[in-house]
Amino acid sequence: MKGSQAINLDEIIKEPNLTKQFSFSIDPAEIKELTGYITPSSPILLDLSIRFADDIFYVTGNLTGVLELECSRCMEVVVYEINYPIADGYSLKPQKDEDIIVLDKSKLELEEILRESLEFAMPVKILCKESCLGLCINCGSNLNLSTCQCLKDQIDPRLAILKDLLKE
Ligand SMILES: [Zn+2]
Ligand SMILES: [Zn+2]
Repeated sequence: MKGSQAINLDEIIKEPNLTKQFSFSIDPAEIKELTGYITPSSPILLDLSIRFADDIFYVTGNLTGVLELECSRCMEVVVYEINYPIADGYSLKPQKDEDIIVLDKSKLELEEILRESLEFAMPVKILCKESCLGLCINCGSNLNLSTCQCLKDQIDPRLAILKDLLKE
């Protein structure tokens, strides 16, 4: 299915108080296109339940899948599992509750839900492990895998400052 699809809310208005289930499997290529940088290793699943009551569409569900991200220090692939809960309210009429999203047409765009959920589901910092040593800024070696000669050859500027302090 395409992320550009939408759920027709006219159908849901017809049966108030009834919970309707929707399940979508979104192609990894579609996610890449949508976010520009997130590439899932398998389809992302979007499960939604929608219930219409008192002018409000109550949307709950889950976004699940596995993402292949890049460690921000060493650039290695980081497999990241997402399981993001969705709970939103929509309405076609202005609501007092500011958390209710007002729609201008009776359609729920999956693209919007996907984009927002993915953004919130992403880790704040992408690291292969908390103690990742990253790449050597001089030779580019992955310091988790090997120790390069660069650090041994030159004095760390932080250590140099410490040396000066100790002299005083
Ligand atoms: Zn790393
Ligand atoms: Zn190096």
